[in-house]
Amino acid sequence: MNHKASDNLQDLQYFGEFGGVNPSVSDSSTYTFLSAKKMFDTFEGNTEGCYLYTRHSSPSNLYLGEALSALEGTETANVTASGMGAITAVIMQLCDAEDHIISSRTIYGGTYAFMKNFLKKFNVETSFVDITKIEAVEKAITPKTKMIYCESVSNPLLEVADIKALATLAKKHDIPLVVDNTFSPLSISPAKLGADIVIHSLTKFINGTSDCVAGVVCGSTAFCLGLKDVNHGAGMLLGSTLDSLRAASILKNMRTLHIRMKKHSENAHYLAWNFEKDGLRVVYPSLKSHSGHEVIKGLMNHEYGFGGLMTIDVGSLEKANALMELMQKKKLGYLAVSLGFYKTLFSAPGTSTSSEIPIEEQKEMGLSNGLIRFSIGLDHDIHRTYGMMRDCMVQLNILNAKTSMV
Ligand SMILES: *Cc1c(COP(=O)(O)O)cnc(C)c1O
Repeated sequence: MNHKASDNLQDLQYFGEFGGVNPSVSDSSTYTFLSAKKMFDTFEGNTEGCYLYTRHSSPSNLYLGEALSALEGTETANVTASGMGAITAVIMQLCDAEDHIISSRTIYGGTYAFMKNFLKKFNVETSFVDITKIEAVEKAITPKTKMIYCESVSNPLLEVADIKALATLAKKHDIPLVVDNTFSPLSISPAKLGADIVIHSLTKFINGTSDCVAGVVCGSTAFCLGLKDVNHGAGMLLGSTLDSLRAASILKNMRTLHIRMKKHSENAHYLAWNFEKDGLRVVYPSLKSHSGHEVIKGLMNHEYGFGGLMTIDVGSLEKANALMELMQKKKLGYLAVSLGFYKTLFSAPGTSTSSEIPIEEQKEMGLSNGLIRFSIGLDHDIHRTYGMMRDCMVQLNILNAKTSMV
């Protein structure tokens, strides 16, 4: 039987310097060599078993990388100082000036801005496509295309990429498929479905405590070593290095990831199902009304559920803002961007995390002003939460007191 990602994580075992059950934290930026020859060899790229300088690697960062490659089932992984640090390093490593990228049009705002605006400096052009239309993706391929990029479940509209079909297409044309799996750790395993490189913002579910920013690139040993190359590696040269103390704390938080993901999913499913029944426009992949429902069922690891993200369209920005303020006042969560926290976080993506995307394009992809993105928390009693959220909606005339939309 296929080994499960959560078992792979469970099976990792480290011994600290003094036999501690947690690995020792490396508290050094630089490392001594017993011979000058060894230092020369290390610079020449023979780094096996040797630490040189923490921007290149450190024991704590390698431990965390090991856990993340076990999570995604890749040969190895490099951790970075942020999700954007991972994304930009991968793009810069794969693309030269004048090259071409095919990307889903519904992606994280920062990634979109990097591709659309920043890469102009290098004349790298990106075709933003509807990633659910495989023919449109294939049609966009040119001789200069250096990667196909998508999010497994996209931000903020929860579009589901058919990673299997995209991987088949990518292989046929010998183009790497890069997948940002930030929204669906454990529930979707892109590398097992054929993706070449898997990226996470660890800032979200994987760390889960909203206390730091970090990222990871999971991939082949050759690609990840290339990123660290002292002469040509985008990871090494752009310098997005995660601090060892943070790496150690993220590794400890990862141990509860499987429990947290199940609870996030269970709670989000409960709210989505009930609010849809109340007549609200809810987007959540477990719902039959969701455009990617069938696709995600064919891709996901079912025991972790459909994830912690959900959106509700309450009709207007004014109503969305009033509802978010009221829910915060009632302690139902925080009016904040980001996701994966123990408490529910909500924001209006059109005016916050996706504001990099021009209004016309937002409209085209179905991102309306009244849309609220929820990252559902680990609430113990989600039935009570549902009742309290409903009360807020009734008070603001989003729902009427009987169970339907106004
Ligand atoms: C937050 C996020 C990022 C960026 O990660 P940072 O850690 O903030 O740099 C990238 N992709 C997705 C899907 C995200 O949600």
